[in-house]
Amino acid sequence: MGSDERTFDLAVIGAGPGGYVASIRAAQLGMRVALVERDRLGGICLNWGCIPTKALLQSAHILSLMRRAEEFGIHADNLRADFGVAVTRSREKAERLSKGIEYLMRKNKVAVFPGEARFTSATALEITGRDEKSNGSIRAERILLATGSRPRLLPGLPIDGKVVLTSTEAMLLGRVPASMIIIGGGAIGVEFADIYQAYGTAVTIVELLPTILPYEDEEITALLHRSLTKKGIRILTGTKVEQVIVGAGEAKVRVSSNGDSQELLGETVLVAVGRVPNSEVGGLKELGVATKNGYVAVNERMESSVAGIYAIGDLAGAPLLAHKASHEGIVVVEKMAKPDDVTPVDPRRIPSCTYCYPQVASIGLTEAKAKAEGHAIRVGRFPFSASGMAITLGETEGMVKVIADATHGEILGVHIMGAHATELIAEAGLAMALEATPEEIAGSIHAHPTLSEAMGEAALATLGRTIHV
Ligand code: FAD
Repeated sequence: MGSDERTFDLAVIGAGPGGYVASIRAAQLGMRVALVERDRLGGICLNWGCIPTKALLQSAHILSLMRRAEEFGIHADNLRADFGVAVTRSREKAERLSKGIEYLMRKNKVAVFPGEARFTSATALEITGRDEKSNGSIRAERILLATGSRPRLLPGLPIDGKVVLTSTEAMLLGRVPASMIIIGGGAIGVEFADIYQAYGTAVTIVELLPTILPYEDEEITALLHRSLTKKGIRILTGTKVEQVIVGAGEAKVRVSSNGDSQELLGETVLVAVGRVPNSEVGGLKELGVATKNGYVAVNERMESSVAGIYAIGDLAGAPLLAHKASHEGIVVVEKMAKPDDVTPVDPRRIPSCTYCYPQVASIGLTEAKAKAEGHAIRVGRFPFSASGMAITLGETEGMVKVIADATHGEILGVHIMGAHATELIAEAGLAMALEATPEEIAGSIHAHPTLSEAMGEAALATLGRTIHV
């Protein structure tokens, strides 16, 4: 490669949903872009996160539906589930999408450098390539860090891939363990609980905070807690893991709650206690890039403390979500092109989804937060048990909850538990982006029968005008 082929307008480190999306948008804006990735295109999301887990959840959901087949007039005798095939299928879906990113990079003329990047200056990277061609240095006027995050581990509890797992090992396990203790009741813990429970594993979730999915609306998490417990998942909230003793083929987990302690026995232990940012990129510290709790500190333009170095996605802080990373990826390069634009990404417009069954999805403020911020609020609820479509689907658990400002009608938050909640939340996102009022949501005609009618009804409920309850 000549020196010209190694000089770029923008170099992006990390090809997750933040980095690869930023690369495409930058190329569309006419920049010469280099993308450095030490592992696989698509990052955690496509390879070890969103996509493979959703593929496994789909297998688990079909299995759960098949167990209810009689209810729908279908005799599914001799039902047998092959978890190995579900894992293979999930890997194929991840592989297919990662290959799709290769195509997109070629299409947009993004130069991909497979290898590990380290800074040699604020405008130069040294690449330890996975191939001869990638080895060596590249220069770029601007450098965008999109190096993501990795699982947070518990001190003194090494991952062995057999008994003690992180999400990565849990999505590759070729067998269905008899029991699994999941430490952490966030989205990742809850999704794996749902997958393994469907395949017959006795699952216990241990969560330190008072609720599972602690950042969701309390009313919704209480509903989910009840629903998952009914399925057979044991949930211990407000419970601390004191000690884990790993033996041959099992682990003893001592937990305590309100001064009482007990010992849990698990064939596997899944550590799902959050993620830590990959901020240890070589040379970054020496350049003086400021971090906050390990995350690269950025301003509303996603600029770090060092001119010309930017950060997005998991590396730039919560919420650690793929669509937040991608959105920031677009915003950061558009702001490079438009230096006067300082509109920040509004964290209240970032939806949050958990893909267990029933699903949970939300956007904006919880009821507790809206009150804590001093809003006078109106809350509208519509249960799926009153939805024609939910009844035909046999998916009547949950509800849509809309929180609106009592004075101006601004939608402050929408919280959903139920079938396809993760699709339904998009309407709430659009409504909030367009500053729609409950009247306007309800005034938009929802097709019948659809689950989306519940959104219109919950909006009407904030006005005391719901029709079907
Ligand atoms: P990442 O996707 O982490 O990508 C960073 C990339 O940078 C990696 O490929 C890494 O190899 C590379 N890299 C790091 N350092 C270097 C270096 N020095 N040189 C070269 N390359 C480097 N989010 C959702 O929104 N929805 C979901 O359903 C969802 N499910 C999830 C399920 C699981 C099990 C997990 C673990 C996460 C899930 N997430 C989900 C979170 C989502 O995966 C992340 O928020 C998202 O991947 C972050 O994107 P990113 O671009 O910031 O970084």
